[in-house]
Amino acid sequence: MTHAFILHDETVLCRQTPNGWSPVQIQLPDSVNDTALSTHDIHDTQPAYQVGRVTLLESLAPTHWLPNDDSSSNSIDNKDAHSLVEAEAANTFTAQAAIAMTYDYAITHHIDLPRILESHDLESNTLKNNDLTNNNVKNSSLKTDTCAFIAYRLLITQLPFALSDQLSQAIQLLRWQADTQFCSRCAAPVMHASRGERAMVCQVCRLRQYPRVQPCIITAITRPNPQTGEMQILLAHHHRYGQQKTSSQTLQYGLIAGFVEVGESLEHAVVREVAEEVNIRLTDIRYVSSQPWPFPSNLMLGFRAAHAGGDIVIQEDELSHADFFDLSDLPKIPSKGSIAYALIAQIAHEQGISL
Ligand SMILES: [Zn+2]
Repeated sequence: MTHAFILHDETVLCRQTPNGWSPVQIQLPDSVNDTALSTHDIHDTQPAYQVGRVTLLESLAPTHWLPNDDSSSNSIDNKDAHSLVEAEAANTFTAQAAIAMTYDYAITHHIDLPRILESHDLESNTLKNNDLTNNNVKNSSLKTDTCAFIAYRLLITQLPFALSDQLSQAIQLLRWQADTQFCSRCAAPVMHASRGERAMVCQVCRLRQYPRVQPCIITAITRPNPQTGEMQILLAHHHRYGQQKTSSQTLQYGLIAGFVEVGESLEHAVVREVAEEVNIRLTDIRYVSSQPWPFPSNLMLGFRAAHAGGDIVIQEDELSHADFFDLSDLPKIPSKGSIAYALIAQIAHEQGISL
């Protein structure tokens, strides 16, 4: 039996459940098995650049991360013990291999899909507030069998790591297929490499094009508060977070991050980015963990470092403010599910502080 995730750009077809939106796995008819769907055969008569489906490999949850013990604290009142146990198990969940296809491909190939709520229906609902928590689902007027395309960005905060990574992989591979239709050397149309290899091959010059990831470092910098000794973390407000500040919404802060440049080690990238953005020196630079981030195709490499010296001078074309904040008094930080949150939570956890 073959199942498929259905994606549309950076959204995933989901079904509403009592615990929030859950990605739908469409059961494909037996006639549409993995082999029939595959366009990887070099002799296949389908267009070489058919954009459609990818087979996702099994992925593993990053077990070295903090247990998600703080994750349920916000919504603990909304869950019974059974669902908490499930949530615990979900964090060690290993996603099975699966297929992902674009909505357009599913339509073209007459795949049976559930009734899908139009986006304008969703916009009139409480879900437009980027909040997919249990509370909102309960209060919403949507029926429980409702299906809709939900932005991956919003799903990250509630999916198990392995499933989240798998969908991230699907978004990137489907985009790569769509964007890799011609040879970048000679401009001839490309075809999928032989089955099992993720490459597009030029039929003229044989150039092979592979999906690319862009390494990007993100760093949590700490120091003791010079007055009180409490551990502090460096956070910055980026212009791209926006300047709107309403009574209900405070400015969002994040960690220092940036792309690794050609010819640079990860540690050099950490030192350079931090020097460029806030002009301070670091010591004790340590790698912690990584996270694939499909916007557009980044691999976030999470580091920790200690402040070694220098006063903060912000790079004004990127940042509007940066400072060291006491862990007990943080501004608004990135959502759970992001590596930024995980790094900050890890440091807070060490200090006995629950975010
Ligand atoms: Zn070529």
